Amino acid sequence: MKSARGTHFIKDQYPDLLKDESSLSGGNCQTAAWPVNIAESVEYVQECSEDNVPLTISGARTGIAGGAVPMGGAVLSTDQLKGIVPTSVANIIRVQAGETLDSIQDYCKAEKPDLFYPPDPTETTASIGGTVATDASGAASYRFGSTRNWVNRLKIVLPSGTVITVKRGEYKFNKGKLKHPCLGLLDLPRLNKPQPVKNAAGLHVVPDMDLIDLFIGSEGKLGLILEADLILARKPHSVTSFAVFCTEDQFWELREDLINSDLPLRELEVIAAPSLSFLSRNTEKTFPDHGNWVLFTSIDVSSEEELDITLETLEMLLEEQGISSDNTWGGFDDLEIKRLKEFRHLLPETVNRIISGLSSENNRIHKISTDTAVDPDLLRQYYGTMKSILEQTGVEHVVFGHSGQGHLHANLIPKNTDQLERSEKAVELIAAEAVKLGGTVSAEHGTGKLKAPLLRLMYSRQELDEMDRLVKEISSC
Ligand SMILES: Cc1cc2nc3c(=O)[nH]c(=O)nc-3n(C[C@H](O)[C@H](O)[C@H](O)COP(=O)(O)OP(=O)(O)OC[C@H]3O[C@@H](n4cnc5c(N)ncnc54)[C@H](O)[C@@H]3O)c2cc1C
Repeated sequence: MKSARGTHFIKDQYPDLLKDESSLSGGNCQTAAWPVNIAESVEYVQECSEDNVPLTISGARTGIAGGAVPMGGAVLSTDQLKGIVPTSVANIIRVQAGETLDSIQDYCKAEKPDLFYPPDPTETTASIGGTVATDASGAASYRFGSTRNWVNRLKIVLPSGTVITVKRGEYKFNKGKLKHPCLGLLDLPRLNKPQPVKNAAGLHVVPDMDLIDLFIGSEGKLGLILEADLILARKPHSVTSFAVFCTEDQFWELREDLINSDLPLRELEVIAAPSLSFLSRNTEKTFPDHGNWVLFTSIDVSSEEELDITLETLEMLLEEQGISSDNTWGGFDDLEIKRLKEFRHLLPETVNRIISGLSSENNRIHKISTDTAVDPDLLRQYYGTMKSILEQTGVEHVVFGHSGQGHLHANLIPKNTDQLERSEKAVELIAAEAVKLGGTVSAEHGTGKLKAPLLRLMYSRQELDEMDRLVKEISSC
């Protein structure tokens, strides 16, 4: 098995292994390994367990919460765990952890052209292991939900080195309890209130959930996800996408109209002010000169007739808001839709690039963003508070996200340590406001190392202790 030993050697030869898209600095480890199959993966996990060495699992390191950044101990990279094969069920494929979202879409195009894998967390170079471990969502989760809806079976190496297979439908908790032949008696943490619908903060806990859902979104704490059986969906007749350039008022009105319409929306995304001026300054992109907000939507249609009705309805809704077609970019074929996606992707990418540059000058600077979500009906109120917190920092910022699901990413771009501290405080205040409204401190990225301190805003000490207790029990199986 390919492996490396020695803190300095690894830092020198494999610097990328010590960071992810969060630009969190200080990453280091004593050993690293790149297993190519189950046997090598088990051997390395067992070795770490026997030597009591903390193990960080590293996927494609596109995470932005620092989860894959090791702080000592050992790293297992899933880079070499490759393979996609069909199963006996036509719409289920078996995928090794190190495959990427890109490779799944390529596989589907070649082997199963009528089907596609719905989770689309923007960054298509993410690994399948990483997306399952974070229960990644993204724009299309408005229609399709998060990754967990599309996972049917997992093969996992528990932290002790034991391998288990968990299939959806095989084991279910009953009032928070479950007896499993290998894991023994599992007792879910008792929470004071149900977790928000869109949530990636803490272990997933629903008293009558399937066992597989405990592992999905557990951010590597419950073991290494080796392979996943993923469910594919039938492609719709066509998808049309739009980017509507509008004012803030037009955005909120149009968003509500779309939510209340019968249109089969796949996505309902937003780029809020002052993000477009940030993009104009930092990229070569130019935009229609109207408003400083963008509403993105994608709509699945099942026939030509439905497409006509969809376009008429959309035209009417835009007219009602006084938005001319000159201020709308449409995507009707694969190429145009890809261009709109790239535009949507450009904002987080540009922020990450700038943060990475700032971080190389001041290693205290890292990605400072929110991943908070509230009930979609409360989003406008929540945004108002978020905006005033952001403006009070005096730090450059952008806001974008999954408006249909009440989920916004504010990103601050601090230029010095003073601004960094103000930005960190703002993120905490915004997260506290989300919790006050019944929402979550992390809706899709997970809490990793950067956002772990926010968990205490959402859960009591006792609830967090119970989650730790369950992690320890499973780790010793
Ligand atoms: C520009 C950009 C846009 C993004 N947009 C979105 C978005 O819209 N929605 C969204 O959800 N995310 C988004 N992300 C974040 C990121 O892409 C996701 O969190 C993704 O799921 C991480 O996958 P990864 O393979 O890179 O995981 P990593 O970053 O390598 O790891 C993430 C976590 O999962 C654990 N892990 C990784 N692999 C395994 C495994 N096989 N078994 C167990 N644990 C494992 C790691 O230890 C770590 O805790 C975005 C990132 C970027 C850079």
